[in-house]
Amino acid sequence: MGEGEGSILDRAIVGFHQDEEQHWVAELACGHQQHVRHDPPWFNRRWTQTPEGRESALGQMLNCRLCAQGVPPQPR
Ligand SMILES: [Zn+2]
Repeated sequence: MGEGEGSILDRAIVGFHQDEEQHWVAELACGHQQHVRHDPPWFNRRWTQTPEGRESALGQMLNCRLCAQGVPPQPR
């Protein structure tokens, strides 16, 4: 499928917050947000349950599907 490696759609994780259902949402450098529960394989929920786990994920790259779809980031 040739997707993924060196993708220009990789965005750094800059933060996290929880939505109203207590699901963790990653905040990406591009301004998009992404529910971590939907992102296999390394994005399983286990690490989201500890501050150490979340901190270790900061700065990691995540492929942004919204950027891939050309969706503009929502203003906060
Ligand atoms: Zn994006």
